[in-house]
Amino acid sequence: MRLQLDLLGFKDYKEFLNSSLWADFRSRLRKAHNCSKCARCGSTEGINLHHMSYKALLDPANIAVLCRDCHKIQHTKVGINYGLKNSEQLKSQLKKETKEQNKKKKLKRLIDSQKKDKA
Ligand SMILES: [Zn+2]
Ligand SMILES: [Zn+2]
Repeated sequence: MRLQLDLLGFKDYKEFLNSSLWADFRSRLRKAHNCSKCARCGSTEGINLHHMSYKALLDPANIAVLCRDCHKIQHTKVGINYGLKNSEQLKSQLKKETKEQNKKKKLKRLIDSQKKDKA
């Protein structure tokens, strides 16, 4: 859990859940998948998104759509894989974007460091 939060620049899971990164990911996930129904019992009330592992916070296959009750159960029992199926398309798209963002960040850092050299 520590590792990926650090990597993404968050100090804890709560901060991640309150971030625009997560909000954006969540809305895209909802568009790409039908996230209105519990994967365990089929309920449509009190729907939560659950991370099956905290090592892959932005991997759709690692996200389970569960109702509040099933979410609780999932946290007390050793998890069954309720991860989103057919998530490869969104996953590869996100991967591509992350790569591009990293490229841009690197480029920006390079430009910034060159500016510093001149100054
Ligand atoms: Zn349920
Ligand atoms: Zn959970």
